[in-house]
Amino acid sequence: MYADVVFPLKLPPLTYRIPTGALSEYNGNLNGRIVKAPLRGRSTYGLVTSIMDKPEIGGGKNIKEIQGIHRHFASESTISFLKWLSDYYLSPMGVALKPYFFEEAISVSVHQKSGGEVKAEGTPAIQKPDVERNIEERRTLAPDIDLPSITQSLTAVCQGIKDKDYRSFLLQVPSIPLEHLFLNEVFNEAGSGIHGAIILVPEIGQIERLLSPLQGIFGERLCILHSRLTKREKIEAIQRVISGRSDVILGTRSAVLAPLKNISFIAVLSEHSPSYKGEEGLRYHGRDIAVMRGFIEGAGVLLSSICPSIESVYNSKIGKYTFLDARSWVVSHGTYQPKKKIKIINMRKSALKRRVISEEVFKEAKRLHLKKETLLFLVGRKGYSLIRCEDCNHILKCSGCHLPLVFYKSRDMLRCHYCGHEERVPESCIECKGFNTKPSGAGTERMKEELEGLLKTGPIIVEKGKGLLTEPRDRDSNLLSDFTPFVIGTSYVTRKLRDKMFDSAAILNIDALLSRPDFRAYERTFQEVMQVSQSVRTDGSTFLQTWHPENIVLRFIKSYDFDGFYKYELSQRDSLGYPPLSRIISFNILTNRETSKIMLDTQNIADGVRAHNNKNSGHHRHMGIDLLGPIEIPSPAKSYRHCIQILMKSRAKKAVHLAAKILLSRLGKLKGVRINTDVDPLKI
Ligand SMILES: [Zn+2]
Ligand SMILES: [Zn+2]
Repeated sequence: MYADVVFPLKLPPLTYRIPTGALSEYNGNLNGRIVKAPLRGRSTYGLVTSIMDKPEIGGGKNIKEIQGIHRHFASESTISFLKWLSDYYLSPMGVALKPYFFEEAISVSVHQKSGGEVKAEGTPAIQKPDVERNIEERRTLAPDIDLPSITQSLTAVCQGIKDKDYRSFLLQVPSIPLEHLFLNEVFNEAGSGIHGAIILVPEIGQIERLLSPLQGIFGERLCILHSRLTKREKIEAIQRVISGRSDVILGTRSAVLAPLKNISFIAVLSEHSPSYKGEEGLRYHGRDIAVMRGFIEGAGVLLSSICPSIESVYNSKIGKYTFLDARSWVVSHGTYQPKKKIKIINMRKSALKRRVISEEVFKEAKRLHLKKETLLFLVGRKGYSLIRCEDCNHILKCSGCHLPLVFYKSRDMLRCHYCGHEERVPESCIECKGFNTKPSGAGTERMKEELEGLLKTGPIIVEKGKGLLTEPRDRDSNLLSDFTPFVIGTSYVTRKLRDKMFDSAAILNIDALLSRPDFRAYERTFQEVMQVSQSVRTDGSTFLQTWHPENIVLRFIKSYDFDGFYKYELSQRDSLGYPPLSRIISFNILTNRETSKIMLDTQNIADGVRAHNNKNSGHHRHMGIDLLGPIEIPSPAKSYRHCIQILMKSRAKKAVHLAAKILLSRLGKLKGVRINTDVDPLKI
């Protein structure tokens, strides 16, 4: 008998001979067991994924003896899931095994003295929810909730868990506390029916808020898993999971691959967050694979958000997810919670002279300051500004990356945020040799300068680190006391200061967000404004400064018109053939060699695949595959100087996968390059 073994390396499964006697000892089935087998002259741990009488590949080249057999690690459904991951993300199966905490699992098994079976302790007795404590938690989570109004949605979600049946839901909530409250209610209601659960949040900082209510419900069964745990902490967590002591996992993206034996429920909070997409190794999307894992395991899946992604809304429109609308849930003293005001400021009419802030925002700042209240300023970037030539409109760029250089006035330097290159500010314009270069746009530094200048007459003390902060880091959170009048930062700030509430907020240049070179720019802007308005108090306002107030998206945002926006955006994506109505796969060919030869070869390969696709799609142009490139782009990887990119795009989602495999196998023959494939890339 033979076994296919997968190692946590960039390799497909390899075939090994099973030693006589080993099979009978393990009841004839080694599937899902960790084995030790020779690989590249060393004995290496791997996972058995299938057993066969005869090896598939003739010649028996890979056949060596399996040396040691350890414990059972993966169920049949886990193996199907790993196979699906490898297939969908166009990566060898070993690349999918690695993030499945395989190395941690090996450490656990070595710890347990090789060969020994980790004692399955079974799921601990379900702890009775502490009712008193839960009511307390509920009050802090959402004080004004009218609980009967959520019953229907709650029943629907819990029924799926009880039936051990795959069902997926998209929940749109008006606020983050309500998102947490609903989750809490699901656990209270489904309680004893939950055997294995994963709760995903986009940022590590958000774990804390959920920790206490979940501990109240699950106690020792709860386990935290995220990328910033130490190696030792990770191994300990995985040991708890494998032994069955913990079966409820709370964590960030990577936790979706926790090696749980059973799963009956998966929740993905703030499902729209780009943090769920991985940018290295197996470039998986945490939300998307949560749905697939739920499907394979027969679990209930709940995706929730204050502003769901276009992908998920689309999936609920085509019936893949059940949509639960919670926007009318919040009831406060018998009335719906009023929507916080969003004000669009037309900068053409009201920009203060030579300033980046408008009269309205300035007035608001003065007003709030007199009342000792707070205002959040959101700017697009760190530093002072870009440098633009008034004569020829040229913007100073990094010579290596061709991206705009950022001016740091405090150090009188220009810096490339992409590669870190720094240079002095040139005396004249590189393009036209004119001397009329000026700061353009505003970063945190310029905003600080402007505010200090404008408000100096008032009785405010504006000082760095106390009164006025730029780019707060984690440790700065405690510096933000009640008398911090103004906070300036990039959008990063709102995520870091999640518990801080402001009396108003101003996004100084919403146009920069709307005009990002990304087909998701409108969607991201909508989500970002909704996120910002979460940290504004109920009676406060969010100001959006724009030079293009006619932009239709601003109208949707102003009136919280999600449905109008989704309709508009889906029709745009449809007419341009963008996801979710199509699938995009990107191929980055990275190299340190001279690119002209590689470019030529890549061009030839692309042309060959193009010809192949055209032949196959025939006259069904609608279902054809677009192959864009190759083009040279700034290298996204620090260790490679050059990057050549090919994009594949098609409405025929299965066909595009097949074409991608053909392209990959041909690109694989190029010498001196590394190829990174990204299915459903977020950054193009
Ligand atoms: Zn110029
Ligand atoms: Zn650069």
